[in-house]
Amino acid sequence: MNSSDLFEFFKQQLKTWEIADKNYKALENQNEKTVILDEYEYKIQYNPNRVFSTKAKIDKKSIESRKCFLCNSNLFKEQDSVNYKSKFDFLLNPYPIMPMHFTIPNMKHVDQQISPYFTDFLDLIVDFPEMLFMYNGAKCGASLPDHMHFQAIKQNLLPIERINADDKNIKCIYAKSKEFIYVSTLEYRSFLILESDNKLGMKYIYDKIINQFSDLYYGDYQDKINLIGKFINNKYRIYIFPRSAHRPYQYYSKNDNSIIISPGCIDMGGVFICSDFDSFNRMNSSYVKSILSQVSMGEKKFQKFIDNFKKQF
Ligand SMILES: [Zn+2]
Repeated sequence: MNSSDLFEFFKQQLKTWEIADKNYKALENQNEKTVILDEYEYKIQYNPNRVFSTKAKIDKKSIESRKCFLCNSNLFKEQDSVNYKSKFDFLLNPYPIMPMHFTIPNMKHVDQQISPYFTDFLDLIVDFPEMLFMYNGAKCGASLPDHMHFQAIKQNLLPIERINADDKNIKCIYAKSKEFIYVSTLEYRSFLILESDNKLGMKYIYDKIINQFSDLYYGDYQDKINLIGKFINNKYRIYIFPRSAHRPYQYYSKNDNSIIISPGCIDMGGVFICSDFDSFNRMNSSYVKSILSQVSMGEKKFQKFIDNFKKQF
């Protein structure tokens, strides 16, 4: 299976699935605005179809009392799938954020976790070089944390993709012949960029990073990271966002500073999704900064991570 099979699958699904087709067409006229913070662009998207995701309840009781919509037996009747390596299925996301939006669940109902599937993530990245793949940890954006899944959209739709090694707020903390690790130096936005031209090298630096997160997060790091990965200039590039909170305080506020946002990969990548119009209206550069600083790992902890990481070498 390759990219053209995937694009054909997308077309076929829109032909046979009326609601999905309607939602993809509606997305073309979605309200969107741009906010600039420290010279970086962020998009704010008003998308009422995403309310199930922004307000998803992910406590144990809520999960147990609902059906899992990623299990094959519970799919919409119009929903087809394309299989990938007898392990994952590509599904069309009927409530899209982006013009081509796939959910890629594991064939089995297993918990959301990245490490056992990290090499699958790398395979997806290299097998579909036009696409960008995402993993949301169970406590930072996954609406269905009980069923392992990735998501995919086309490349170059997220503002973060324009941030690379040359950026003035990026510094290198590791460079070997073919492997590089960079970190963001903006105090409100902790993230890393991993680059390598080969799978083994990428796995090596990922493991080194993860070891440190595991210590800092007392083990449950897999629930508290977002990953965005793609293939570019014949290299793997992965953005990792270590998180401290699932949602900002504005999410729980009843005042007129309420902002209903549950940041996952797409938001951390610079496109904030608001399912209600008031939140969309209120969003501005101060809220972007406030939200990022609350849900990101935080400057002190991130610096501790960098110091500990460097001690390994
Ligand atoms: Zn399931």
